[in-house]
Amino acid sequence: MATNQAGRLRGIPSVDSILREPPAADLIERHGRALVTEAVRRVLAGLRESGEAGPSGQALRARLLEKIEAALRQRTESSLERVLNATGVVVHTNLGRARLSPAARDRAAMAASNWTTLEYDRGGGERGSRSVHVERPLANLFPGRGGLAVNNNASALFLALGALARGREVILSRGELVEIGGSFRIPDVMAASGAILREIGTTNRTRLADYAEAIGPQTAMILRVHPSNYRIVGFTEQAAEADLAGLARDRGIPFLVDQGSGCLESMAPLGMQDEPTVAELLERGADLVTFSGDKLLGGPQAGLVVGRPDLIERLRRDPLYRVLRLDKMTLAALENTLDAWSRGTQRDEIPVQRMIHQPAAAIERRAKAFASRLAAPLAGRWAVATREGESRIGGGAAPERGIATTLVTIAAVGPVPGGEDLLEAALRSGAPPVISRIHGGELVLDLRTVEPGEEEELLEAVVRAARRAGSGGSET
Ligand SMILES: *Cc1c(COP(=O)(O)O)cnc(C)c1O
Repeated sequence: MATNQAGRLRGIPSVDSILREPPAADLIERHGRALVTEAVRRVLAGLRESGEAGPSGQALRARLLEKIEAALRQRTESSLERVLNATGVVVHTNLGRARLSPAARDRAAMAASNWTTLEYDRGGGERGSRSVHVERPLANLFPGRGGLAVNNNASALFLALGALARGREVILSRGELVEIGGSFRIPDVMAASGAILREIGTTNRTRLADYAEAIGPQTAMILRVHPSNYRIVGFTEQAAEADLAGLARDRGIPFLVDQGSGCLESMAPLGMQDEPTVAELLERGADLVTFSGDKLLGGPQAGLVVGRPDLIERLRRDPLYRVLRLDKMTLAALENTLDAWSRGTQRDEIPVQRMIHQPAAAIERRAKAFASRLAAPLAGRWAVATREGESRIGGGAAPERGIATTLVTIAAVGPVPGGEDLLEAALRSGAPPVISRIHGGELVLDLRTVEPGEEEELLEAVVRAARRAGSGGSET
């Protein structure tokens, strides 16, 4: 009451009078009455609380409207925005992991805006199953195996543990009690699923005998977790998958491998010999293998489980499967992505695969052409060059070794302390935002993760950002 009175005394306008002004009508049309009213209330309350003696009359109204617009912008601007990824990290978790192929995107859009056969059997004109849309392509990729898909690999593992080991023990080596990517911790997922973790061995050495000794009447499964972004080197020992599969078979329990990366073909040509493919793990005797849909597979966010048909059926019948099921857009994109793999056209069609396997010579050519086009507009303030470097696969998928690339480097010329940092920030705050890296006192751009069709836009963004960063912030 007292502050309202004080407000009136200082000539602060009422909410209603502001809403009646013509600029407010314009804002209401753009953002809706509820949001605008709320913004006006907040700005007026702020003014009353500040208690400062500011302008009054028309000047005050103009300033209030500016503040109201700013408040509305903050509340209504989309936070999920397109960016250019010039980091060279292909499966960049913070930038959305895999980009869908145009074909997969079109299928997702088709499913989104049409009626579809999501759960409809055209043959019989009756209710069908949404599972068939991934079962069919998975059966082509993994003949004789069963398969299903849920929301992500964490859910896939959660479902398998819940359905096959709820209230019973799961044997896992201490060397595989890992955290992967954004807060995916194996012991936490295990606890949440209701399975009981039975840790064996040590961080660096776990033998087949350790597994054999731990198996008892309470044991529901043997689990192997691919450590992904983490390696134990030196004095180490790990039981072979084929041996674990044999032991599990003898004792009548399933052997599950959380492979994670979704690696479907050998990475040996890229110097990554120790990344097992899903098919290899199945051949070595794994009963089930779980992996992500949006890492090396290059599809939408999903978690896939492939393996023994009877176990897949148990997963499908568990109530968790319904809780974790995929939506129609993801199903459509995943179906299309898996079909590209079974046609063998993944390196042409799927962006993640195309980017990873882009020949070094092609990147070098692109980088040199890009650098030479950048040199003139940046001349004087920035030195542009190219040098050898490394791209990363990222996403907790075989990341410890890089892939040879050619980087475009930009360094501040003369006394511009922290010039590269200013440029990096200017790139980040541009439109579209460009995400780059600072390395050894230079800003580096890796074109591996930039589509050729995005190069022009990147060039313009860099020129604009370089002008801003080089002139103390004012855009020219
Ligand atoms: C990435 C990864 C996960 C988590 O997968 P999401 O699809 O992000 O849920 C789990 N296990 C392994 C081995 C992984 O590499």
